[in-house]
Amino acid sequence: NAAAAVIDGKAFAQTLVTRVGGAVERLIASHGVKAGLAVVIVGEDPASQLYVRNKGETTLKAGMRSDTHRLADTTTQEELLALIAQLNADDGIHGILVQLPLPAHIDSNAVLDAISPDKDVDGFHVVNAGRLAVGQDGLVPCTPLGCLMLLKDQLGDLSGMNAVIVGRSNIVGKPMAQLLLGESCTVTIAHSRTKDLPALCRTADILVAAVGRPEMIKGDWIKEGATVIDVGINRVPSKDPVKAAEGKTRVVGDVAYEEAAQVAGRITPVPGGVGPMTIACLLANTYTAACRSVGATPEK
Ligand code: NDP
Repeated sequence: NAAAAVIDGKAFAQTLVTRVGGAVERLIASHGVKAGLAVVIVGEDPASQLYVRNKGETTLKAGMRSDTHRLADTTTQEELLALIAQLNADDGIHGILVQLPLPAHIDSNAVLDAISPDKDVDGFHVVNAGRLAVGQDGLVPCTPLGCLMLLKDQLGDLSGMNAVIVGRSNIVGKPMAQLLLGESCTVTIAHSRTKDLPALCRTADILVAAVGRPEMIKGDWIKEGATVIDVGINRVPSKDPVKAAEGKTRVVGDVAYEEAAQVAGRITPVPGGVGPMTIACLLANTYTAACRSVGATPEK
């Protein structure tokens, strides 16, 4: 087998952001509504601050309104819930995202459940999980939505394909399974108790890895020609021992990329695969929510 085709998530995400930007402009022209996203961050966690800054910049790039609410880590749950209530009632805000993790004294579930499901652009609210499960229009979690877009772009019709998803989290694995079931794949969800995971993975035409374990999925777990989507983002020590000793790290996926690329037909790299799709899908969801708020049909 020749080396796998590399799925360029970064390029796809850039195209998607541009496309959403055009649709946002047309919604302003047709309905006088500018899609708006509010991001709420509590505390000073540097990684979260970076994510939030990136989200804000990309939101503006798509011609949308971007509000960032930076709250001190001493913020009480009541204060946070009051802000959510205010954003739920704000007609200029169509998407609300609360950056996780929240400080330990705040009940994250209570906060996420307080977001109006129609503005829940992360798709984490139980109402949106339920809508996805029964096939109603809702808001779908961004990372699996991005994975699905890449798969459809690469493979076209997915019906009848065997899909194995490794990982059953509420934010990646489970919604990914629902989406692929919706595309008429035969879906298997694997997790830490799965028996003979390598053999199961070898049955997959589509293999989605969302485990959080660096390079766990090996080349000989992959069926010849399969499409491999690697969701994992894992920090490991730098390859260079001197740099590693200085504490330098690099990012790897859940798939042993080099060996997997010898067997797979197509594969997403880490970084540059699934990661960039997540923010792009957040904007797509915000646009969709803005359309629905005025009864407009979102462009595809
Ligand atoms: P979770 O930790 O919530 O879930 C991990 C899943 O992997 C669990 O279902 C767990 O099984 C399963 N698992 C763990 N160890 C094994 C094993 N040895 N064999 C089989 N299954 C195993 O992680 P997330 O779903 O939140 O994230 C997964 C990865 O994706 C992480 O690397 C994360 O950083 C990344 N991620 C990337 C995003 C992006 O933007 N690209 C967004 C979100 C996440 P069990 O349920 O039995 O414990």
